[in-house]
Amino acid sequence: MKIAMIGTGYVGLVSGVCFSDFGHQVICVDKDPRKIAMLESGKVPIYEPGLDELLEKNVAAGRLSFTGDLAKAVDGADAVFIAVGTPTRRGDGHADLTYVIAAAREIANALTGYAVIVTKSTVPVGTNRMVDKTIRETNPGADFDVASNPEFLREGAAIDDFMRPDRVVVGVQTERAKHVMGDIYRPLFLRDFPVVYTDLESAEMIKYAANAFLATKITFINEIALLCERTGADIKAVSKGMGLDGRIGNKFLHAGPGYGGSCFPKDTSALARIGQDNAVPMQITETVIKVNEEIKRRMVTKLHDLADGSFVNKTVAVLGVTFKPNTDDMRDAASLTIVPALIGAGAKVNVVDPQGQREGEALLPGVTWMEDVYTAAKDADLVVLLTEWNEFRALDLQRIAKSMRAARLADLRNIYSAPDAKRAGFEAYAAIGRIGFGPEN
Ligand code: NAD
Repeated sequence: MKIAMIGTGYVGLVSGVCFSDFGHQVICVDKDPRKIAMLESGKVPIYEPGLDELLEKNVAAGRLSFTGDLAKAVDGADAVFIAVGTPTRRGDGHADLTYVIAAAREIANALTGYAVIVTKSTVPVGTNRMVDKTIRETNPGADFDVASNPEFLREGAAIDDFMRPDRVVVGVQTERAKHVMGDIYRPLFLRDFPVVYTDLESAEMIKYAANAFLATKITFINEIALLCERTGADIKAVSKGMGLDGRIGNKFLHAGPGYGGSCFPKDTSALARIGQDNAVPMQITETVIKVNEEIKRRMVTKLHDLADGSFVNKTVAVLGVTFKPNTDDMRDAASLTIVPALIGAGAKVNVVDPQGQREGEALLPGVTWMEDVYTAAKDADLVVLLTEWNEFRALDLQRIAKSMRAARLADLRNIYSAPDAKRAGFEAYAAIGRIGFGPEN
């Protein structure tokens, strides 16, 4: 199959590279000339484990190329995927469909023969019909079908998720489009990964419902963690005891500083707006959004308490600022709430993150970027473990405690424990949903 991938970000690039690895002929398009220039010179503009090797292999095999010229990519394609951003629209919380509709217009003008126009971006119910209408109005003679194919990959594990998905969801209106989509995903179908064929609206809804459900699960355990802190229960034991129940499952039950990232915040907000527009308020999702904001605010209070209520003339070492490990993505990361609050309260902030600096420099002005945890923690008054990168999981806590001005640790991912911190010589330790020691703990 010949595939054009419009939008070469986290989703478009991974999807394009993986489709080419299936054996398809893929051209990835982006309107950002810097991205295309990097890709053409063999460099990957994002951090995603394993992506460079797979990209290099498929470029070398002649199956994968990059261009800024959308018309060139669409010419002769069997399927054109729209994988552009759908951020939150300023002011009202809706998904901003500007990029999707602009892409649909450009595609309409470039179509030369029958193609399936597939929306991979996360879009509100009704958007695929809007794409259909836009193309028909822009190019009344165009021969095409639309399909909805929401993406479920997780950054940091994106290639494995794409190659070994729990399911592929395809919303179609015609047998012809179903055939094309079947041919594209045949390598997965042959390996028994389930493909769910449905209508356009259901496919669009599945994506929002799935993300809102996951955001709810995380927020639920975060709220239980708050109650554990007040009652003396230990959230790690509670999560384990809950997660072993097959009806609940152990995934997404790790308490933390509130969800962030490129999807959950914007998708929960969009679902809430879709509900309001249809006179079916999504009360659970609306509450989840509120509680998540509250959880993030409480993190700042927790750090304040651990620093005896003042950050003036204090140094804080923050370990990890990306929204989760194994990505350089900073969109809606908890660090974007917590770090400015620390700086605003007078702290000097040292940051260590294996991949976060490139994106983070513009987003976290005023911090000092450091290569190494031990240098960042030296003479600091507080260490905050914010993102659980592997390199932060087996730190020499004793060395850190010894080198600090005041040995205090806020472990917002529950990687360590109060006995670990005590043994290492910390004078204060705070975790999420479990007992710490020192000020207010
Ligand atoms: P992104 O911002 O990383 O990438 C979008 C890209 O599209 C950008 O490079 C931009 O320059 C390009 N673009 C925009 N308009 C264009 C046009 N007309 N022609 C060519 N290129 C254009 O976004 P992303 O994280 O890859 O997300 C894309 C979509 O996938 C969103 O709807 C998102 O909700 C969804 N999604 C994302 C993830 C994730 O983990 N990031 C997972 C599942 C679904």
